[in-house]
Amino acid sequence: AQSAVTFGGRFAREFAELAIPWRAEDAPDPQLLVLNEPLAAELDLDPAFLRSPEGLLLLIGTEVPAEATPVAQAYAGHQFGWYAPRLGDGRALLLGELAHADGQLRDIHLKGSGRTPFARGGDGWAVVGPMLREYVVSEAMHALGIPTTRSLAVVATGRPVQRETVLPGAVLTRVASSHLRVGSFQYARATGDVGLVRRLADYAITRHYPAAMEAEDRYGALFRAVVAAQAKLVARWMLVGFVHGVMNTDNMTISGETIDYGPCAFMEAFDPAAVYSSIDEGGRYAYRNQPVVAEWNLARLAESLLPLLHEDQEKAVEFAVESLGEFRRQYSAAWSAGMKAKLGLQEGLDDDVASPLIDDILALLQEGEVDYTSFFRRLGRAARGQAGPARDLFPEPAGFDAWAERWRALDPDADALDRVNPAYIPRNHLVEEALTAATEGDLDPLRRILDAVSSPFDERPGLERYAAAAPEDFGTYRTFCGT
Ligand code: AMP
Ligand code: MG
Ligand code: MG
Repeated sequence: AQSAVTFGGRFAREFAELAIPWRAEDAPDPQLLVLNEPLAAELDLDPAFLRSPEGLLLLIGTEVPAEATPVAQAYAGHQFGWYAPRLGDGRALLLGELAHADGQLRDIHLKGSGRTPFARGGDGWAVVGPMLREYVVSEAMHALGIPTTRSLAVVATGRPVQRETVLPGAVLTRVASSHLRVGSFQYARATGDVGLVRRLADYAITRHYPAAMEAEDRYGALFRAVVAAQAKLVARWMLVGFVHGVMNTDNMTISGETIDYGPCAFMEAFDPAAVYSSIDEGGRYAYRNQPVVAEWNLARLAESLLPLLHEDQEKAVEFAVESLGEFRRQYSAAWSAGMKAKLGLQEGLDDDVASPLIDDILALLQEGEVDYTSFFRRLGRAARGQAGPARDLFPEPAGFDAWAERWRALDPDADALDRVNPAYIPRNHLVEEALTAATEGDLDPLRRILDAVSSPFDERPGLERYAAAAPEDFGTYRTFCGT
């Protein structure tokens, strides 16, 4: 087994102001729960080595190559609208960067590796259930084609961790294009050191938007690129019914990848007001608010970048406002193109025709409390002349019948529909079932759900359970942060 892993330490080296060298806490009895072999291969890591006792210690960061400099990253953030000047990796570490097969760097990062100087009141630990949850949902998002951080492994540490009850501890090994967040820029800006903000922006450009380096107005180009990436990302969430749940500015990446799978959930019955997080009492991060919140977060990024945007701060603000104005246009374009695709309609179809059709079906789904994912998947069969399965989802199908007649007149493409509407998403009740079983030592349900969501568009016999909404007795779903 190959063990030579060489982490780059670029962030640690170049951003001493934002990185505290730190060590992962030893684990009493590390046991591998799940390893992402395809992702390991993309990073040129040998799965056989990662499975070895030495490999496990690398995955949890307790035995790292001599030259590696694990660091806790500093960041600030607006949490539910309130500014927190010093958040940072309270229970996480950046091990360093590795080259990916695509030629880009990836951050290798640990979650649950023990208290750091940013831990505040937290214990520094993570537990098996929530780390496996991040693994399942991030890999599902990746398979859906949605930009996301990924999960290389979850290792149980053998450490009992006190939550509401005592639960088994775990470390998630996360892989990301970078861990730069809006909150990283907020932190840099708050130091008052404009040079630091500039270096951080240059770093973001080289890692994510190299084309901006050539632009006359490099930092403006960076901001516009992040606006565009986030507009597309949030449209993808909306199209698939994903509710992130904690869109604080520290949980929004510069790369445009989804990050921080804490209280997220996939919507079942279509409901614009859907909220799952137990702490989101005001519904700030409800499904329908996600685009507006993303735009609000990007305004916080713009504020942090203002000194770089123009010498004259009034001009800088003018420029930021104008650039941020693109968010709505780009979001709407991505959303309506995506909705047309979900309905199997031609991309070029006039919005005057498409928009009412989209609005009307969403209103019918909401009124009938119809399972969002099942409906779009069943439309494939409806486009082939078999409307029954989609129709059956409506308590009162008359509205659907009238809508379907208008829709079929536009000659929807059934095969195209099936390529964009997943059969399998990480259904909340099945995720919970897999996590409960894994916490009790049975990994079979976890393997089954991973198998289903890893090929979400390819409907297979035997996986019917994974394509169906939760039974009624599952009740109202609630999710939790920081567990
Ligand atoms: P999150 O809600 O996951 O974005 O986390 C917000 C902040 O809380 C970050 O600074 C985390 O590092 C920190 N945090 C969450 N859980 C813990 C924990 N158990 N111990 C220490 N810090 C934590
Ligand atoms: Mg976070
Ligand atoms: Mg979190």
